[in-house]
Amino acid sequence: MNMNKEVPSIFKNRSAVLATMHKKERVISPVLNKELGIQLTVPEGFDSDNFGTFTGDIKRTGNQIEAARMKAHAAMELSGQTLAISSEGSFGSHPVIPFFPFNREIVLLIDKENDLEIVGMATSTEANHKSSRVHSFEEALAFAESIGFPKTGVVVKVKEDSKESSEITKGIIKIEQLEEAFRAISFKSDDKSVYIETDLRAMFNPKRMIVIEAAAIDLVKKVKSLCPECSWPGFQITERVKGLPCGWCNLPTELIKSNIYECKKCGYCKKDDFPNGITKADPGNCQFCNP
Ligand SMILES: [Zn+2]
Ligand SMILES: [Zn+2]
Repeated sequence: MNMNKEVPSIFKNRSAVLATMHKKERVISPVLNKELGIQLTVPEGFDSDNFGTFTGDIKRTGNQIEAARMKAHAAMELSGQTLAISSEGSFGSHPVIPFFPFNREIVLLIDKENDLEIVGMATSTEANHKSSRVHSFEEALAFAESIGFPKTGVVVKVKEDSKESSEITKGIIKIEQLEEAFRAISFKSDDKSVYIETDLRAMFNPKRMIVIEAAAIDLVKKVKSLCPECSWPGFQITERVKGLPCGWCNLPTELIKSNIYECKKCGYCKKDDFPNGITKADPGNCQFCNP
């Protein structure tokens, strides 16, 4: 990590509450401590599962950022602290390449004292979100090993949409646990088969942990992007302007020409032309040269 040494002074000597369970502090705390000097604590009795679970037994409230925001506020209320970090993940198919798995992680910082909210984000197509219906313990084990068991955990359910805790066993990371779960759950299933899937919770999913860490690093990068006028943290791109000129005819294309940065504190704006160092668009992107 090669980052700006400057730490925004508003975070100096402050502690923050980490609104999470599932051991995400293992990857988030070291990054925030090293780069921002913030000391993170996980509040006792905080149950982030109240805000939704991947297994669907508790539905998530709001979109990804809203869900993270609610967790952060709940943890601040519980702990009485004014600085909170929360994290939220989503799994689905890739927005551009369907059938590609897609995992997006956000790590959110909320500073109530300074009315500040900054979102770090990272994505990955390495996500191992898979599921299968299996009819024997041997089949269950073969599936589990195909997704990285026992380093990655699995969940066994009667049905894909089982909601009752008696129909779900989560956090399986040992062969004996898998055997026991298969026996207990298949007993409740009409055809003696079970539904098995990747456990997506961070502590059972090392691939996800890596993406969460990358989102924490992105958060720090954004926090350390300071306004050139007033030094307020979180000086970020607020608008992308299209119109990169075509390399042949010079007419504007749909590609990005400039990024606009705006300070949320003092309103200072900065235009960054040709942000990728490219000043002309490939004529293949031009609607006149390549209609
Ligand atoms: Zn400013
Ligand atoms: Zn052109």
